[in-house]
Amino acid sequence: MLIVGGGPVGLATAIALRQRALSVRVIDLRKPPIDKACGEGIMPDGARWMGDNGVELEPAESFRFRGIRYVDGAAVAEARFAGGHGLGVRRTALHRALVRRAEQLGVRLDWGVRAVGLRAGELETSSGTCRADWLVGADGLGSRVRRWSGLEGGRAARRRRTGIRRHFRVAPWTDLVEVHWTDDCEAYVTPVSPTETGVAILWSGRAHGFAEGLERFPALAGRLEGAPAASVDRGAGPFGRRARAVRKGRLALVGDAAGYLDAITGEGLALGFHQADALAEAIYAGDLTRYERAFRKLIALPFTLIRLLLFAERHPSIRRRMVRTLAREPEIFARLLAIHTRDRPPASLGLGGAVRFVRGLVRA
Ligand SMILES: Cc1cc2nc3c(=O)[nH]c(=O)nc-3n(C[C@H](O)[C@H](O)[C@H](O)COP(=O)(O)OP(=O)(O)OC[C@H]3O[C@@H](n4cnc5c(N)ncnc54)[C@H](O)[C@@H]3O)c2cc1C
Repeated sequence: MLIVGGGPVGLATAIALRQRALSVRVIDLRKPPIDKACGEGIMPDGARWMGDNGVELEPAESFRFRGIRYVDGAAVAEARFAGGHGLGVRRTALHRALVRRAEQLGVRLDWGVRAVGLRAGELETSSGTCRADWLVGADGLGSRVRRWSGLEGGRAARRRRTGIRRHFRVAPWTDLVEVHWTDDCEAYVTPVSPTETGVAILWSGRAHGFAEGLERFPALAGRLEGAPAASVDRGAGPFGRRARAVRKGRLALVGDAAGYLDAITGEGLALGFHQADALAEAIYAGDLTRYERAFRKLIALPFTLIRLLLFAERHPSIRRRMVRTLAREPEIFARLLAIHTRDRPPASLGLGGAVRFVRGLVRA
């Protein structure tokens, strides 16, 4: 088994495969701990996956968050998770923990090795050609494996969206992840340790620097005033990449390489961990059609929620109404959040809940 990409989802796939006693090699062009622009909030189902798979974070390098707060001007809506907690953690600390677990399980990890081409089932790398019975592309948003295997599906987004992040040496002021909304940009504030807070700014359309983004949120900028930066700015995007399919012969795509819409719901990691399990199960069974079916099921709800939020993001008056409605109807927000974290089925919103939400949007 050869996995191209030792980011979180490539490593999660390796961990899931080793737990089924399959031998695994991972290559990555970078060296650990690998950093990446990210909101760094792992939703509760992702945190549960980590616990179930023995991926342990240092307490001083993570923060348990209990829900989500939306802030749009004067409107503030918040909801707590139905069960468990999310984890705020810097990508470097997350990567260290995943590498540690993969090593414990006996995964072969080859860092500083770049995949450079795929020809007749053989992967060409910067350290030679390799053949594997199964090949996994876990090489992120701009996946080369996706392109080389003819699975590239093009852009999936209407508007160009990009992100940029910075960490501040400031203790968290809440146990919620905050999403601050304004026209064409949002700020995601995640406590990542007892002493550090991360801020990721997502832009729609033309991207600007971190400082210009923060200026768009005066209350947040006020809170962070004078706090020293704890990292250099790092950007990512554009988001919205599609794969035509997630398997071809004995090759499969997983994580962002398998298609990514947007960071607006902050669940790329949790979703990737679930995909990793589904892929390992399918490889163990020797049948990738199982993965394809599981993959479609896994992304159905998250991608629908992302599309709905992106619609609201594109229409500021709807976005403002949405936040005002959720502020007035915290119970509906909590139900929606529980659906998002897979703690409750979509039907649990109920007809009454859906009607109240839509009525709220119209009246707000
Ligand atoms: C601004 C922003 C905010 C986000 N916020 C959140 C959030 O709060 N919560 C959340 O859950 N998700 C969030 N996400 C999404 C999350 O970051 C991704 O879903 C996640 O990183 C996907 O992991 P991955 O392993 O699939 O890809 P990556 O993390 O991109 O890893 C891919 C790996 O492949 C390697 N690679 C690439 N090409 C090659 C090659 N040719 N040869 C060898 N190796 C190669 C890279 O070095 C890298 O290590 C956010 C994303 C962005 C951009």
